[in-house]
Amino acid sequence: MIKFEDVFFQYSSSKKTALSNINLEIKEGRWLSVLGKNGSGKSTLMKLIYGQNLATSGKVTFNNKEYNKELYDDIKNKIAIVFQNPDNQFVGSTVEEDIAFGLENKNLPRDEMEKIIGEVLDIVDMKNYRKFEPSSLSGGQKQRVAIASALALRPEVLILDEATSMLDPVARKSILGYIKKINREQKLTIISITHDAEESIYSDNIIILEKGTIVYNG
Ligand code: ADP
Repeated sequence: MIKFEDVFFQYSSSKKTALSNINLEIKEGRWLSVLGKNGSGKSTLMKLIYGQNLATSGKVTFNNKEYNKELYDDIKNKIAIVFQNPDNQFVGSTVEEDIAFGLENKNLPRDEMEKIIGEVLDIVDMKNYRKFEPSSLSGGQKQRVAIASALALRPEVLILDEATSMLDPVARKSILGYIKKINREQKLTIISITHDAEESIYSDNIIILEKGTIVYNG
């Protein structure tokens, strides 16, 4: 689904390459965990996947199409991201408004929107919290809503950017369990940036980045 061939990336403001010689294939329906210390290139790799930056050399493709500026808009609708801090991702004053907000530019009829909101909240077991204020939820519940908001967009790829790192071990395990279920049942491709080596239990593949290169792929 996403393929890197001999990819190098260098920020224009930097003298050294942030990614070197990346060869990687992310297969549809699989879960890839990306591990590595700070500064190893994890976020840069995600920016190339999300199309925010284009490779300096080499080739990155999404469903066999090479990334370029035009493809970016197309890809944006196929990739959803859940970030580390649940408090920074809420825009609505209730859980359902929050999910609806993300759907706004899809111009769906109200009843279709209501249906999607119900479905995605059901997947993460948050159906009963529809009218709740996001601020009244626990950290784990907030991340479940963030995942529901991402799923409402019907993405082909879900990127988790340290999405469980601020949660306690119990909430983390529960979230990873929900994501695994979605990964399996809906064949949603998962790419997870993590510091948590334990997460490899859930993933099909892990890569470890070190100074911008892949030092382990298995
Ligand atoms: P990680 O996500 O693993 O912490 P990054 O992808 O953020 O790593 O960083 C990889 C390398 O690129 C580091 O050497 C970092 O200093 C550099 N880098 C990251 N962002 C920028 C930027 N906007 N401009 C210049 N250099 C950057």
